Amino acid sequence: MNHGQWNKKERKKDENPVPCQIGGEDVRKFLDKEWIGRLSEIVGEKNVLTDEENLERYSRDETMGLQAFPDVVVKAGNVQEISKVVRLAAGWGIPVTPRGLGTGLSGGCLPTLGGIVLSMERMNRVLDVDHENLMVVTEPAVITAELHRTVEAEGLFYPPDPASLESCSIGGNVAEGSGGPRAVRYGTTKDYVCGLEAVLPNGEIISTGGKVVKDVTGYNLTQLLVGSEGTLAIFTRITLRLIPKPKLKVNLLAPFSELSAAAKTVSALLQEKIVPTAIEFMDQPAMRLAEKYLKKEIVFDTAAAHLLIELDGNRKEDFDHLLDTVGTVCERFGAWDLLVADQKEAQNRLWEGRRCIFEAANRIGGVYETMDVVVPRSRIADLVRSAQGIAEKSRLEPVCVGHAGDGNVHVLYFKPEDMEKDRWTEEIKKATLTLYRTTLEMGGKITAEHGIGLTRKPYLSLDLSETQIELLKGIKKAFDPKGILNPGKIF
Ligand SMILES: Cc1cc2nc3c(=O)[nH]c(=O)nc-3n(C[C@H](O)[C@H](O)[C@H](O)COP(=O)(O)OP(=O)(O)OC[C@H]3O[C@@H](n4cnc5c(N)ncnc54)[C@H](O)[C@@H]3O)c2cc1C
Repeated sequence: MNHGQWNKKERKKDENPVPCQIGGEDVRKFLDKEWIGRLSEIVGEKNVLTDEENLERYSRDETMGLQAFPDVVVKAGNVQEISKVVRLAAGWGIPVTPRGLGTGLSGGCLPTLGGIVLSMERMNRVLDVDHENLMVVTEPAVITAELHRTVEAEGLFYPPDPASLESCSIGGNVAEGSGGPRAVRYGTTKDYVCGLEAVLPNGEIISTGGKVVKDVTGYNLTQLLVGSEGTLAIFTRITLRLIPKPKLKVNLLAPFSELSAAAKTVSALLQEKIVPTAIEFMDQPAMRLAEKYLKKEIVFDTAAAHLLIELDGNRKEDFDHLLDTVGTVCERFGAWDLLVADQKEAQNRLWEGRRCIFEAANRIGGVYETMDVVVPRSRIADLVRSAQGIAEKSRLEPVCVGHAGDGNVHVLYFKPEDMEKDRWTEEIKKATLTLYRTTLEMGGKITAEHGIGLTRKPYLSLDLSETQIELLKGIKKAFDPKGILNPGKIF
């Protein structure tokens, strides 16, 4: 069979081209008509996109300043099509980059070496809500909030709730091991994945786990694939554990005059053995950004920091007691008011400001970089203080928001308008490195939920030893000896 020539055509790239390296071999090549024809035979002509407008559309995710063009976008409709596309690509030695809905914050779905972007967007059906086993089986491109709505309509609950839940996919969540505000009480995506159907980089289809709660048959491949950032396998069907939907839910908004008081409240709540569903944190610059973006006033906008607390439960007596205790602790640490929302509309209004921060930063915030650091929960006040101190030294403008209840703070460092581009490049590098070192000294990690992807790969060795990195590379090689699946990420 003649596989033609794989020469990557020259494209105009972003100012910040992504470094592309796959096993030292440059595989930038060009997909010819014959190959496009073969792909069209598999998925149908209308699902193979090569026009500039679409290539541009699939060249970005939500990570600021990154862009990499695919040569072709393939929208597969089922597992067999994916298997055939990957088999073909493996034969040609063409990179394949899986893509969910492109909301990633570490450049994970960008095709750094060109080739095929394999979009999962057509595979968007919830297949089975299983009441007997308390499980749901879903295709990968179901929007996370849609999954929530589907199972909640049947009295069930899927807790993981990334702030992007209305626009990200469940497959992307599994690939990133995504978290969200409710991680405090319910854990992250990894705690709910029981089974996966996946296509390996040679096109073979495997099934791991299943509708079982326990499984120790060999190494835990299901959990190895969770958080693998699209580099080991492509998920085509996902089995998730569900729990009964809590009957009661309330949100509280507590304003503080001092940032450290808000942070201390988080530790105090946990010390009282109270584990809320969520404890989110926003500093004043974050509130200002949200106000500017939403074009409306945020309640208590003169506060130095807000805590947004969610509680849930089933028995009214227990719930009322919990509510009282949380109110008392907030007051003890200086909250000067407490807004309680027990109706859906009011609750949504409280969450609106917190959920929009990344969108606001991307649309109106200017130039910035995001950190996704996590520390043991008792160190949250120290982390926020350090993040601000680092910004001050480098003359950067910090915004701190995050999942305070689980120790995960998103620090956004913005470039001041009057700072020269070269100076910004130097300062942001310095600040990033210092923040990561400080985080690690506190017993933390450089990424909690956004992944290594492209943006954090230069920093991986700050945290992991050479031996650990070699082990990870060995795993990658065992799954993908030719290095065709999402190359250029993590390492
Ligand atoms: C406003 C905003 C708020 C956010 N809030 C949170 C938050 O609270 N918590 C959090 O964890 N993240 C958050 N994120 C980040 C992002 O939404 C998550 O990482 C999400 O899981 C990505 O899903 P996606 O479908 O957009 O994936 P994409 O961005 O398309 O892809 C992400 C990665 O997953 C891989 N991938 C996608 N689908 C598959 C598949 N089927 N098989 C194998 N690999 C696949 C890709 O190759 C890529 O490496 C936020 C992002 C934004 C823009």
